[in-house]
Amino acid sequence: EAKSAGRNTVRFFNPEMQHKVEQRAKLETALSKALEQKEFLLYYQPQVNHHGELLGAEALLRWVPSDTGLMVSPAEFIPLAEDTGLIVPIGYWVIETACRQLHDWQQQSPDRLFNLAVNISARQFHQHDFVQRLQEIVHSTGVNPSSLKLELTETVVLDDIGYVIDRLHELRTIGIGTSMDDFGTGYSSLSYLKRLPMEQIKIDNSFVRDIAHSAHDSAIVRAIIAMGHSLGLQVVAEGVETEEQRAYLEKYQCDVYQGYLFDKPMPVKEFEKWLN
Ligand code: C2E
Ligand code: MG
Ligand code: MG
Ligand code: MG
Repeated sequence: EAKSAGRNTVRFFNPEMQHKVEQRAKLETALSKALEQKEFLLYYQPQVNHHGELLGAEALLRWVPSDTGLMVSPAEFIPLAEDTGLIVPIGYWVIETACRQLHDWQQQSPDRLFNLAVNISARQFHQHDFVQRLQEIVHSTGVNPSSLKLELTETVVLDDIGYVIDRLHELRTIGIGTSMDDFGTGYSSLSYLKRLPMEQIKIDNSFVRDIAHSAHDSAIVRAIIAMGHSLGLQVVAEGVETEEQRAYLEKYQCDVYQGYLFDKPMPVKEFEKWLN
């Protein structure tokens, strides 16, 4: 019994803990089979300019385990996929599916300017053959890579900035752009940002949320946009939910807007209404 076991004793048989461990093990087993069971799909969320005109979309992964039929939130399974390394094969499925979809859309309307953003986990980015495999996927799907954008988080640059810069240059050479996702929540400093050959930053929705009511958040957003522009970066705001937030962002000259105000992430068929 834990009480009599005294201090400094790990309580292995706490039933609540036990339950959590079991749930996680179950989820992990299910996740490891999800690819072959074809349980993943991509949702697409529009990105627009300040007039609300479509500029592109972000592809967002969804998992619907066949036994329950209930969608599991990425917040729940992405961290598990990252811990187990499953994020690497899953991530390639995401890239390939997104590229095939983008190619389809490019075939339908060759003159339409449209960017598709794909989230890449740090673990995947740091695979030694990442750029090569990406290039293979670009070739095999026939997609125009200049419409592809990789969203990386600040954790990507925690390790070896020289390595990251080299890979970003390679991506640029292929024509693929990159975006710093969730900007402001991680550890990357301004001196990092200055050295990284990226094209875009995405202001995290935690700063956008109170932009109309918090002088601090409003000042932060304004500063991020100004700084981004002075570094030659395009700036995206995520999590734009209200007209009030949109108006502030427009006043600060934000370039791209994404959030429920415009539309939620949705399946392909539904998203295609935006394209037509
Ligand atoms: P993220 O890349 O920052 O994606 C934006 C998240 O904000 C999405 O959550 C989106 O559904 C949500 N969102 C969009 N508009 C609004 C809004 O107006 N208000 C609020 N409150 N939220 C909004 P989602 O789809 O649940 O994805 C969560 C995170 O999971 C993503 O954050 C990303 O980090 C990760 N993720 C999603 N798909 C992938 C993927 O294919 N690969 C990897 N590695 N990570 C992914
Ligand atoms: Mg993202
Ligand atoms: Mg984001
Ligand atoms: Mg975010």
